[in-house]
Amino acid sequence: MVGLCIKRLFLYCVLFLSCSFTSCKAANKKSIRGSLSSLDSSLQPRITAYRERMRDLVKQYPNLILCAETDKLVVALTFDDGPDTIITSQILDILEENKVKATFFVLGERVVQPQHQRILERCIQNNHEVLSHGWNHPRYSTKTEVEIEHDIVTGEAALQEKIGKHSPYMRPPYGDVDDRVINVLRKHELQAILWSIDSLDSNASSSAEIISDNVINNVMPGDIVIIHSRETKEPTVAALPIIIKNLCEQGYRFVTVSELLRIDGTV
Ligand SMILES: [Zn+2]
Repeated sequence: MVGLCIKRLFLYCVLFLSCSFTSCKAANKKSIRGSLSSLDSSLQPRITAYRERMRDLVKQYPNLILCAETDKLVVALTFDDGPDTIITSQILDILEENKVKATFFVLGERVVQPQHQRILERCIQNNHEVLSHGWNHPRYSTKTEVEIEHDIVTGEAALQEKIGKHSPYMRPPYGDVDDRVINVLRKHELQAILWSIDSLDSNASSSAEIISDNVINNVMPGDIVIIHSRETKEPTVAALPIIIKNLCEQGYRFVTVSELLRIDGTV
């Protein structure tokens, strides 16, 4: 009898320790990474504060996603702000050469412009995932709830008309999310896809080396990486083959956001 109790006690201890370990790991994972040391010192506290706020918000709202919780060596590369006529096609070339699938968060305003039709079609034909980044990239925190809803709905409608299907995912511009944005997204049954690795290519002074190091030195299973596919992002184009080569060598497989979340079991 005593032996049985000790055995059960031992089993409960093992279960408790393994659960504690798992939740610590998940909590650690749900933060945004990417070295800020190359940035202007005035920018660093602002980005750090943003990352801390998002870490708290994801605990509160299940429709806000930074990454997937998985031990599998999978990662989702995501490209924002396109399509454009210069950089997006170069990114597509690199992805095609390396047989990599990625996700493009596109702006409704650009999706409807005639000069972007071919490049948008190429994204779709190459089986990349194309998701909405809203209509024209306003900062939602400076807008009313009605304006936020209008940007989200018109961006989604423009994309849906082009690709013929609705997606439950979108990325708010600048990752600028607050309680009001969450409410609008909930109302439309949308999930906000943020990121767990910031390549920091949005910063004009980021070189290809800084961008690739930010991804390579921080990558973990289930990460969502933010990169940009718009004019002036030549350093991003130079960094991309380095990122892909290194992550492949580490054993990573590239998946779209939807695939990543299916692996995670979130959907
Ligand atoms: Zn953007």
